This record gives sequence, C-alpha cells and structure tokens, in this order.
Amino acid sequence: MVIVMQEGAEEPQIQAVIDRLVARGFDVHRSTGARHTLLGAVGAQIDFDTADLEAMDGVHEVLRISAPYKLASRAFRPQGTIVEAGDPRGVHARIGGQEVVLMAGPCSVESADQINRISDLVAENGAKVIRGGAFKPRSSPYSFQGLGEEGLRLLRAAADRNRLLVVSEVMDQSQIALVSAYADILQVGARNMQNFFLLRELGRAKRPVLLKRGISATIEEWLLSAEYILSGGNYQVILCERGIRTFENYTRNTLDISAIPVIHKLSHLPVIADPSHGTGRRDKVSPMARAAVAAGADGLLIEVHQDPDHALSDGAQSLRPEQFSELVKQLRMIAPAVGRTI
Ligand code: PEP
Ligand code: MN
Repeated sequence: MVIVMQEGAEEPQIQAVIDRLVARGFDVHRSTGARHTLLGAVGAQIDFDTADLEAMDGVHEVLRISAPYKLASRAFRPQGTIVEAGDPRGVHARIGGQEVVLMAGPCSVESADQINRISDLVAENGAKVIRGGAFKPRSSPYSFQGLGEEGLRLLRAAADRNRLLVVSEVMDQSQIALVSAYADILQVGARNMQNFFLLRELGRAKRPVLLKRGISATIEEWLLSAEYILSGGNYQVILCERGIRTFENYTRNTLDISAIPVIHKLSHLPVIADPSHGTGRRDKVSPMARAAVAAGADGLLIEVHQDPDHALSDGAQSLRPEQFSELVKQLRMIAPAVGRTI
C-alpha cells in the first residue's frame, strides 16, 4: 500500500500516519519527493480498511497494491482451476479446461413433461448440464416461487434420462442439504451474492458452487464473495457473469463481457456467462453468447424453453428449441477460433 501525503503535509501529520501503520504491523518506507511525501507500507494486513488512513489529516490518497482477496487471486494458483462436477468415474464435466461447458434449461422446473422435453433438447445439442430452478428468487412475492423439492426430483430424473448434470439454486443455508441431494452444482443467485451466512455454509458443502455476480456488485466484491466459499475449504467455485444494473434500461441488465478477461487475469477460478439474465431479451441472447465464448468464457448458462410464451418465469429471455440448436452450431465454429472446443 502506498500513502501519498498532501503537498505541504506537516511532519507531525506524517509521523502520525507512520505511527498508525507501525501499530498495525506494517514496515514503513518513507520517500520524500519534491512535492509529496510517499509512505510505502509493506505487510500482510488483509483486512486493513484504507478509509481509516484516508481520513487522517495530511493524507492525499491511499493506493492498495495487493488485492483484498487471497485464495481467489490468480497468484494463488497461476495455472488456473478446473472445477470437476459430477462423479469423475461417471457422468461429469470439467469447467475451466479446454471445453466450453454448456449449461441450459428452463428458468424454472414446471412439470415432468416440460423438463423431460427440454432435457432431450439440450442433451441432443451437446449441453453437459441442465439448469432449472426449484426455489426461485422472484422480485415479487406473488410470482411463481418454484416447485420446491418436487421440482428438484423432476429435474434430477430429467437429467438422468440423458446423462446430464444438474445445476439448481439454493437460496438459503437451510436448503443446502436438500438441494445437494439432487443437484451436482449449487447455484447462488445474484440476489444472494452477499448472503455471507449462505456463502460460509457453502464453504463446507461437498458440491461445486456456481456463484452469480450480484446485480450491482463490483468485480472485487464478487471475488470477495468467492473468497468466503474458498476460505471455508470448498475450492470448487465457478463464477457467473449474469449482467449488472446500469443506467441503460433497453435490456434487462448489461452483460459485462469485459468481466470475463478481467476475472481470468485476477483469479484462477473459471468464469461462465449467462446471456439470458444478462439481456432479458430472447433476440439478444445468441449474439451475447457468441461474444462471451469469443471473450474466453469457460461455459454458458442459457435459458431454453419448449414453449416460452407460456413459461412460468423468464419466458421473454428463453430461447426457443430451434434457436438453441442454431446457437450451438455457431458456437462450435467460434470456439476453435479461440482455442476451445464445445
Ligand atoms: C436464474 O438463474 O434463474 C436466476 C434467478 O438468476 P439470477 O440470480 O442471475 O437473477
Ligand atoms: Mn431465470
């Protein structure tokens, strides 16, 4: 960390900052320039709040050099992490390797017929994982809230008929055991990215976690949320960029494609994209899915429905079957151009 003192800062002010840093265990290196005094503070004080220093008299600026997350940082595992979902001797998927892993399915599990038909469709088109919510985080308490355990049961059966893996959302720590009994990957939704109790419990879970980016979360906050899970001992975390809220309201959210290369630089964790929630509009999903693969996404999470006009949630952003097939054909051309397979 570097502390830049104000021009003309007085000696007692500089000394007070040095004393504060030393008291917190830092080694302080002072350098006096023509206009500013700079203090270099060396030491691993990971939870140090730079605002404490910024508020001190005579301080102009505090610049952090090392990231506030450690286990999630690229430096911790420069070679990258491959998340192994499923049973390595049976049905499984590797997320973060050469293959771009397709995860697709409806927003919500609605019925046996619905989920079986979608399972056949996504499996035929090369998806490795079927998605489907059984516990739904809806903005309104009057909207469809999901089928609960029955939905999980239907989803598992639909997955098994096509040797697919299951990803489904867990909204609360009390649901972890139940959802783990049916799902291979536990999804943390955008609204729960900073549910720290849930994240801590997931650190003890025996399942990979798909951690969605919060609606207004910075990349640093997102990685700190991942850090909660990693620090509990669960290293199987997949990050998912699902769009953030910006001033633009033509689309439901703004899919931050740039987050993909940024995460790859800052973290060893795999990152996938969700262009369905990222745009909210069916006709924008395929272009953004193509862009995400071109940008290096390790996978895609896509909503697909056999009859989106009658879907119980997120119909407007769900691809129709033929659109999904067409998209996969395109992705199979794009992936090799960036050294990947699908
Ligand atoms: C979902 O995947 O259906 C969902 C609710 O996603 P998000 O948490 O990104 O809104
Ligand atoms: Mn949805």
